[in-house]
Amino acid sequence: MLKCVRGQAADHASGQMRAARAALAAIDDSVRCVSREVRRVAHGEDRVECPCCGGRYEAFRPFGVPKRLNAQCPECGALERHRLIWLYLRDHTNLLHRPARVLHVAPEPALRRHLSTIPGIDYVCGDLDPAKGDRQCDITQLPFEDESFDVILCNHVLEHIPDDRRAMAELFRVLRAGGWAILQTPMDRRRAQTFEDPAVTTPEDRERAYGQHDHVRIYGLDLYDRLAAAGFVLDLNYVARELPADRVVRYGVPANEPVMVCRKPAGPNEPTGSHR
Ligand SMILES: [Zn+2]
Repeated sequence: MLKCVRGQAADHASGQMRAARAALAAIDDSVRCVSREVRRVAHGEDRVECPCCGGRYEAFRPFGVPKRLNAQCPECGALERHRLIWLYLRDHTNLLHRPARVLHVAPEPALRRHLSTIPGIDYVCGDLDPAKGDRQCDITQLPFEDESFDVILCNHVLEHIPDDRRAMAELFRVLRAGGWAILQTPMDRRRAQTFEDPAVTTPEDRERAYGQHDHVRIYGLDLYDRLAAAGFVLDLNYVARELPADRVVRYGVPANEPVMVCRKPAGPNEPTGSHR
């Protein structure tokens, strides 16, 4: 009997010990978590933040050739220009909050990942390479009816297209009246005129002439005139200039690059061809 009581007491004591150990472990975890958070802030492990996925890091990853430091989000892969576009979409449009049919040409994986999961967005993506989009599509001959989309994203594409005027006309055709497109493209703002030479045809020559083996021109400021000739009304949005300087650094976005929004006029009386 005495042995049994002693046994029960021992079991009870060991149960209490286990509970105490578990409580201590939980406290230990909490302390570690708090000290990790303190370290993250105190030692600069929370210096940058990706507005696309919300991830916070000491720095973005290097990316590109040659490598740019602090460029790519380790979580969602967003680069500087993707984060800039996302900030525009998030803070300057209602795209994320109301139904829209969106065409995303040559979809950047980071933007595709976020846009394709937003409930109100009827998301269609296409690429010349069928492996890179849901629809195989050539933007000089888009496989869509007139006025099919409220919004088009087609970034870093036009500089690869020999007949870019036809591509612009196609993008305009499939956009609904009152809709808008973001058509970012590299350009040299010091040039008034676009530089393109039909005699430059090989990858080596293109690399020498345009800085990249698959580019077919370097756009100058007359890019705006080409887009206006297709019917678009341009709106240059210097998104980063409207942010506090520390946010520009934190989000790792280009400070002086505009998001080029090309609008299709809602009606025949709306002026075309203007830009700021
Ligand atoms: Zn991210």
